Amino acid sequence: MKTFFADEQRKHDPKMFLSSGAAQPNPEKPERIERLLAGAKAAGSEIVRPRDHGLKPIAAIHTPEYIEFLQNIFLRWQRIEGASEEVVPNIHPLARGGRYPASAVGQAGYHMADTACPISADTWGSACWSAWSAVEAAEAVLSGARSAYALCRPPGHHAFADVAGGFCFLNNSAIAAQHLLGSSKRVAILDVDLHHGNGTQGIFYGRSDVLTVSLHADPVRFYPFFWGHADERGEGAGLGYNLNLPLARKTADEGFLEALEVANRRIEAFAPDALVIALGLDAFEGDPFGGLSVSTPGFARIAEAIALLGLPTVIVQEGGYLCDELGANLISFLTGFK
Ligand SMILES: [Zn+2]
Repeated sequence: MKTFFADEQRKHDPKMFLSSGAAQPNPEKPERIERLLAGAKAAGSEIVRPRDHGLKPIAAIHTPEYIEFLQNIFLRWQRIEGASEEVVPNIHPLARGGRYPASAVGQAGYHMADTACPISADTWGSACWSAWSAVEAAEAVLSGARSAYALCRPPGHHAFADVAGGFCFLNNSAIAAQHLLGSSKRVAILDVDLHHGNGTQGIFYGRSDVLTVSLHADPVRFYPFFWGHADERGEGAGLGYNLNLPLARKTADEGFLEALEVANRRIEAFAPDALVIALGLDAFEGDPFGGLSVSTPGFARIAEAIALLGLPTVIVQEGGYLCDELGANLISFLTGFK
């Protein structure tokens, strides 16, 4: 299986992060890439640089005003006297039905869900290359590869069509799924990250051509709090095409695999032409977020169970934070998927 990754993805290096109101170092560090690259290589994967795919695959998911915002907001922010080094929102609309603001501060609040996704000079470039890694992996699968791995960083699954959030700017998994639809009728996205894939759910909530399934720590007391509950099933034409499987805190391998069985049966019934796995490794028992308790060998078992679906599969990296086993967890998953 090939790994797609571009060096430009290293440049985004966010500093700001608020955890329960306290300023902390941002956990979405470039160092994650080194651990994941080492893991991919150790799993026998060849590292391939993606091509520049331009704005088209990004604009197939994200709105024009949001793309313009991401492209320009850093320079606009620098013109504000006394502004922070990174773009961080300090005001949000209560509902988004109000007027679209003209000011940089207003737009930051409109397009950024939280303080976990600060924007610097390098953010847009890194986010584009991360998305293009996902597009290139989708291209590989469209060209006949059974599977491909996109080492996407920054990650994507908390990004909505016009909102950044939770370390995410462009929704790489959604972009890969939409790209696969170029020659498929139906695509399923299976999100196994510790956190609910709220952005991915939001993007496809009214559609029946992309099934979205997410296993995650129960959001009743966990990020992203407002989404990820079992009664969110889609709307309109998309009703029944979103499945959330919230798990109790500290759920370990057996509990995770049981829920995965439910997910896999739903995906089989949907009968997609291709699959996107939103691969968060933060469900790991030693991950700094500490929400679930999947073991290192558990990731291989998860991968084996998903591989049994027998679908052409794009694996898109989502979360998974710095801990000694980050690379080993990726090796376990990629080896299990073979
Ligand atoms: Zn996560």
